[in-house]
Parts: sequence; structure tokens; C-alpha cells
Amino acid sequence: MRLVLLGPPGAGKGTLCTTLKKSFDLLHISTGDILREEMKQGTKIGLEIKELMDSGNLVRDELVSEIVRNRLTENDKEDKAFLLDGYPRTLSQAIDLDKILEELNTPLDLVLYLESSPALIIKRLTGRRVCKDCGAVYHITNRPPKVEGTCDYCGSHELIQRKDDTEETITHRMAVYLDTINPLMNYYDAQKKVRRVDSDRDPEYVQKDLFKFLDEKRTTDSD
Ligand code: ADP
Ligand code: ZN
Repeated sequence: MRLVLLGPPGAGKGTLCTTLKKSFDLLHISTGDILREEMKQGTKIGLEIKELMDSGNLVRDELVSEIVRNRLTENDKEDKAFLLDGYPRTLSQAIDLDKILEELNTPLDLVLYLESSPALIIKRLTGRRVCKDCGAVYHITNRPPKVEGTCDYCGSHELIQRKDDTEETITHRMAVYLDTINPLMNYYDAQKKVRRVDSDRDPEYVQKDLFKFLDEKRTTDSD
């Protein structure tokens, strides 16, 4: 299965991706994670993007598309299955992606779109904590770790708040998102690849809907 997961910041993409990639054996490509790693390592790219990311602005299209191209080219999963998370973010990136996929002869199957209301998002993001070592995502009230302050997956004691998860930056990221999402959705709607899911509900329901769409797709493809 070759998938794009779209939705505003705070719609629960991180958590859903963890489950999806395990259940469907997908190469998970999160441009946000990759870019944060570049910053952490202090690479040339990392230095270039630091200010943009900390303030919640988008990194330039050519740079992210190049990163995604490299990852997809190295994909060694069966059927070249992947899950793109946080990419494409703009129409220009979506066009880049189609070019890349055409070259690799691996067309996209579905675009999963998480619909969320802005008020909930602010609440979700200000309470979000991320494991510094493995990237697992928690929420102080909605999804705390089993043992306070300790990552369920890797045992790390560093559950931190992302620098761009302050209320001011979140509001800005939301505005950036609303600016770019419509052209992107029109593009994918025209390709009839979009499946919409109401992500204001509890993650287990959202997950159930997503699995339903993926199972349907698998069944029709094998007919
Ligand atoms: P969120 O979905 O919560 O905003 P991400 O981890 O997906 O968080 O992205 C964090 C930041 O990384 C963005 O605000 C932006 O600066 C940068 N970024 C990630 N993906 C892209 C992309 N596809 N295009 C441009 N910038 C990106
Ligand atoms: Zn961890």
C-alpha cells in the first residue's frame, strides 16, 4: 500500500502512523522527523532550516522533495509500500511527488485526510510530549505514558515539548496549513484518491476508519 496521510498539525498523524506502519509493513517517511534530525545533527541543511521550523514556517519545496525522493528511491519494502507523513504540504510538492512516483513506477494508492477542528488542535498540541530518543508521541491528559515521565517504547526519561508546540507557533502553523491545504486537496480530489476521516474523535475510532479504507482498497485491488 502506498499512502499519503494529510491533516493539520495536531490531528494525531504521529500516533496513527506508528500503528499503520506496523500493521501494513510500510516505510514511514515523516519529513518533520527527518528535518528535526537534521537540526539535531547540526548539518548544513539543519542550520538552514532551524529558524523556519522553530517559527512554524515551511521549509522550501525543492529541499523536502529531494529528501523524499532519496528515501523513496532507497525503499526496500515489498511492493514499495510507504506512508508519507507531513508531505506533500503544498501543491508544488504534490506535483513533485507524482513525478518521483512516476519515475519509480509506483503510483500512489490513497490519500488519507484527517479532518479536525482548530479549537481541539490547540489543546492537543500544547499538551503534546515527544520522546527525545525514539520519537513516540504522548499527551499529558489524553495519552500519558504508562509510567509517568518514561517512554513506553524505549524507556527513555526524556519526554519533551517540541519548540514549535507553543500556542503562538501553533496558531501560526495552523494558518500556514489552511493557506496550503485547499489547492492540495483539489489536486488529489481530481485524482479520486482521497478518503476523509473525522479525527476529532478518539484515536481508536479514527484508526478503525482508516483500516476500513485500507482493507477496502486491498480487496478491490485483488479482484
Ligand atoms: P506538524 O504536522 O505538527 O506541523 P511536522 O513534524 O510535520 O509537524 O512539521 C514540523 C515542521 O517541519 C513544519 O512546521 C515545517 O517547518 C517543517 N516541515 C515538515 N514537513 C514539511 C514539508 N513537507 N514542507 C515544508 N516544511 C515541512
Ligand atoms: Zn522512546
